[in-house]
Amino acid sequence: MKNFGLDIWGDENFIIQSDTININHASKPSLISITQEIREKGYKGPLLLRFPHLLEKQISTLFNTFEKAKQEFNYKGNFQAVFPLKVNQFPNFVHSLMDVSQNYNYGLEAGSKAELIIAMTKTPLGAPITVNGFKDKEMISLCFIAAKMGHNITVTIEGLGELETIIQVNHEFNTGTETPIAPKIGVRIRLHSSGIGIWAKSGGYGSKFGLTSTELLEAYEMLRKYDLLDYLWMIHFHIGSQMGDIAPLKKALREAGNIYADLKNRGADALGAINIGGGLAVEYSQHEDKEERNYSLREFANDVVFLMQDISKRKGVEEPDIFTESGRYVAASHSVLVAPVLELFSQEYTEKGLRLKKVNPPLVEELYDLFNSLSRERAREYLHDALDHMESLLTLFDLGYIDLEDRSNTEILVNLIIKKSIALLKDEDSDELKKLQDRIQEKYLVNFSAFQSLPDFWGLAQHFPIMPLDRLDTKPTNPASIWDITCDSDGEIGFNREFPLYLHDINVDTEEYFLAFFLTGAYQEVLGMKHNLFTHPTEVVINFDEEGKHTVDNLIEAQNIMDILDDLDYDTYLMDKTLKYHIEESEHLGHEEKRELLGKLYLYLSENSYLKTIQAIDEER
Ligand code: PLP
Repeated sequence: MKNFGLDIWGDENFIIQSDTININHASKPSLISITQEIREKGYKGPLLLRFPHLLEKQISTLFNTFEKAKQEFNYKGNFQAVFPLKVNQFPNFVHSLMDVSQNYNYGLEAGSKAELIIAMTKTPLGAPITVNGFKDKEMISLCFIAAKMGHNITVTIEGLGELETIIQVNHEFNTGTETPIAPKIGVRIRLHSSGIGIWAKSGGYGSKFGLTSTELLEAYEMLRKYDLLDYLWMIHFHIGSQMGDIAPLKKALREAGNIYADLKNRGADALGAINIGGGLAVEYSQHEDKEERNYSLREFANDVVFLMQDISKRKGVEEPDIFTESGRYVAASHSVLVAPVLELFSQEYTEKGLRLKKVNPPLVEELYDLFNSLSRERAREYLHDALDHMESLLTLFDLGYIDLEDRSNTEILVNLIIKKSIALLKDEDSDELKKLQDRIQEKYLVNFSAFQSLPDFWGLAQHFPIMPLDRLDTKPTNPASIWDITCDSDGEIGFNREFPLYLHDINVDTEEYFLAFFLTGAYQEVLGMKHNLFTHPTEVVINFDEEGKHTVDNLIEAQNIMDILDDLDYDTYLMDKTLKYHIEESEHLGHEEKRELLGKLYLYLSENSYLKTIQAIDEER
């Protein structure tokens, strides 16, 4: 894996300069210098770095690419886009997003009442808001309130029941008013086309959302009957996130385009937009033969514009405005999680750890000889002997013939023999050797929670690019597994022989080593779980000033222990009193010791749950 696959997933957002990974923008600061700058202020756990310039890049690329496609085909409809809030609702993200997208009339999509309130307060009047997902009367009423405020809002009907509620709410809000105002109406259609991959369930007949053709005709009749046909302006579909293949999208576009044209010819005169949802894929792969996407944004935009034009021409209708709700594509690259390595777990297998006795069991003696006389020519033979001896020695232990020290010597010696043999045979590319490499992977204990920061890895095995922040001029040689700090064996990114990750050999007692997890900006933050009560990490926004220098802004620290407990509705006042009482009333403690313990306790309670690196503890002393 050359450069940790940066040329595959990096999209030129980062570059390697001498031995560090740097931001490929303005003054090109290294991620490690930014990390150190923040850590020097006392923030030692995992850090989430946000880069608004990367949001700006994605949004401008999206709009410019569709603009080019429109020009190429002389397409008459407009291109519009909204950001689906479900992908990231965090305030530092949303504020940056709205800030960098001011020139694009960019809006927000909401799928719940709380998201709708974000959309109603953060979208400039006139920029589009779309509202999807299941809605009750209250939510539909909120859409009417937004429309009456002057928002350009479209409420998408997901089922006929929702349309009935819209009719009722319209009656309540507009009967007797001089100028009736209602939101625009969209209909989500249930296509028979569906996407592929782990998020494909959003499309197809079995999907949770959308109207069938029969329901669509019924909806059309209802809208006409209740004088709402003039509000019907959008056809909506979404066939699934992370569409790696363009083919299902093309199929869905043909289906949706024909539905649009048919409804228009039937008399839905106000109909003027096709909303193709999200689905634009992100390249997460670090390995050439595992790429996740088979198309470019240019191909995607050209296909959408061409197909909509083709159908409109053939059916003699106006070319519709094209709407997208791309979330992953816009947000994924904007954030990087940086986490310190705390420990390496196979370090205990060193020769120093051996506890050889005056008289050892013969097989242990033999292992020791094998280790000392291992050579390139006989490496394979000795390796097989060592593995064989280990099986026998473990059986002897189970039967009570050898003791714990003998067993420990066995483990160490076999591990050392495997390592030495791999080093001697490294130019051989045999399957057996690769399998052995798996056995001696280094386990990197990293100060983060996979459940909190990479939930799609935990739940869906979605890969995120990983690389160290420095030492990039040195070839990493340790086959690496990554352990997070939760007490859960699922919190492990295991070594994969087919798509291996190699990291550097380091001594955590004397050196710092940081890993960065890239493309974490979409979905991960809000889906993150507080397993073991590890919460959202400390986050910062990295901006660049006019001279190109970076600034570290809007730091939000990870929640402290008492706030976490407060969130779970513990009575933290009572907990505080209980802890204090137990110290103050203890008969074994003197006055000074009580004072000291209380001081320490309150210091710890004011900090977050993440661990401190050994260096951090040293610095505090
Ligand atoms: N629009 C709708 C209706 C969705 O359900 C989703 C995601 O599930 C999106 C847009 C965003 O999709 P993506 O993040 O793949 O662009």
